[in-house]
Amino acid sequence: MFSDSPAVSEGTLAMVDFALNEDQLQIQKWVHDFAEDVVRPAGHEWDEREEFPYPIVQQAAEIGLYGYEFLLNGMGDPTGLTLPVAIEELFWGDAGIGMAIMGSALAAAGISGNGTPEQVLEWVPACYGTADKVALGAFCVSEPDAGSDVSSLRTRAVNDQATDEWVLNGTKAWITNGGIADVHVVVAAVDPALKGRGQASFVVPPGTTGLSQGQKYKKHGIRASHTAEVVLDDVRVPSRCLLGGKDKLDAKLARARELGHSGEKQPAMTTFEATRPLVGAQALGIARAAYEFALDYAKERKAFGKAIIMNQAIAFKLANMAVEIDASRLLIWRAAWLARNGGFRNGEGSMSKYKASETAVRVTEDAIQILGGYGYTRDYPVERWHRDSKIHTIFEGTSEIQQLVIARAISGLRIE
Ligand SMILES: Cc1cc2nc3c(=O)[nH]c(=O)nc-3n(C[C@H](O)[C@H](O)[C@H](O)COP(=O)(O)OP(=O)(O)OC[C@H]3O[C@@H](n4cnc5c(N)ncnc54)[C@H](O)[C@@H]3O)c2cc1C
Repeated sequence: MFSDSPAVSEGTLAMVDFALNEDQLQIQKWVHDFAEDVVRPAGHEWDEREEFPYPIVQQAAEIGLYGYEFLLNGMGDPTGLTLPVAIEELFWGDAGIGMAIMGSALAAAGISGNGTPEQVLEWVPACYGTADKVALGAFCVSEPDAGSDVSSLRTRAVNDQATDEWVLNGTKAWITNGGIADVHVVVAAVDPALKGRGQASFVVPPGTTGLSQGQKYKKHGIRASHTAEVVLDDVRVPSRCLLGGKDKLDAKLARARELGHSGEKQPAMTTFEATRPLVGAQALGIARAAYEFALDYAKERKAFGKAIIMNQAIAFKLANMAVEIDASRLLIWRAAWLARNGGFRNGEGSMSKYKASETAVRVTEDAIQILGGYGYTRDYPVERWHRDSKIHTIFEGTSEIQQLVIARAISGLRIE
């Protein structure tokens, strides 16, 4: 089947083993139990409150689900499957609370992807704090005029050689945990003329003067997750807060000026590539929740004297939901596995995020349809899951941007 497409078959399907090991099965059950006992029962309340669910994040920290050790263990798993498996279960519980628990991971990924080993050791734990005193991290890339087009960031970072500090100025938009985080990782332009190749990432430590929260957004979904503007007004950070260090940045900028590009990836892109299968796993968890709920409902609900599932119109919808969910999971697991075993070849990370997020929107909408009038009300969770699913086609690269990445990867052309 793949003989005409060696780029797809080589090193991908031939070597993949998707049997979860004992550790992974235990983690899956452990997260599922927490999602079922703690997260799902709290989902409606925190969606209505539109507030960050500190008590639930605290509970997650107490059992070790919210914490850098959990993240590092997952990132160290050679199969790559531990984190997507865990995230699917967590988001099966509730996506708003799930994001509140997972939001710091983006900052941690930004630090791990761009920092020196010393910086990773110092700042990744600081994004989580301890079970007694949880901390939060925020990854600040997007701006009011630069979301998909991350090469056009206006936030500037200027080196003050007299004090050996960096001075950051600008406004960041739609930042998860923005303003309430302890550690903000900020991507800024050092040399705007070089576009994405002239950017660097900086850690803004807790309590730094000049960083403040702008507007807090009122959102369509994932309303328990905090999303806000971050305003940087003459924020001064010491030189050790430049992720990767000055020598590496100077060498990168010199290469970019000489060649027109540095051969290195933009800092924001490095982070997003690594996290795409995990964002897909979030969407997958929501889709599975809605599918399971709709399946049970369709067996119970009677119309015209029989369970509604006995109509092919309903049964086939559920069949399609199951197929799309399984297809999404296979793409996510393949991408997560490839990320640890040789890297993406044809935009597999983007494929997984694209497929899973579009599937989640479709499946949750079908679930509303299957529940009829009840599905449209807030008495049942499927309308919330539908609202929650939609963000996955937008953040960490919209569906159109995922298609662009895939199109460029499969064609080798700079498709615009
Ligand atoms: C709840 C939430 C949480 C978020 N969390 C974070 C966070 O923690 N950190 C962070 O940095 N950002 C975050 N974001 C920002 C998010 O990543 C951006 O909103 C997203 O990347 C899209 O950017 P944009 O909104 O500027 O849309 P635009 O880039 O203006 O896109 C608008 C539309 O045009 C399409 N489009 C744009 N360019 C192209 C193209 N070349 N080809 C085809 N179509 C195109 C897009 O797909 C989209 O449909 C968050 C956003 C939300 C809503």
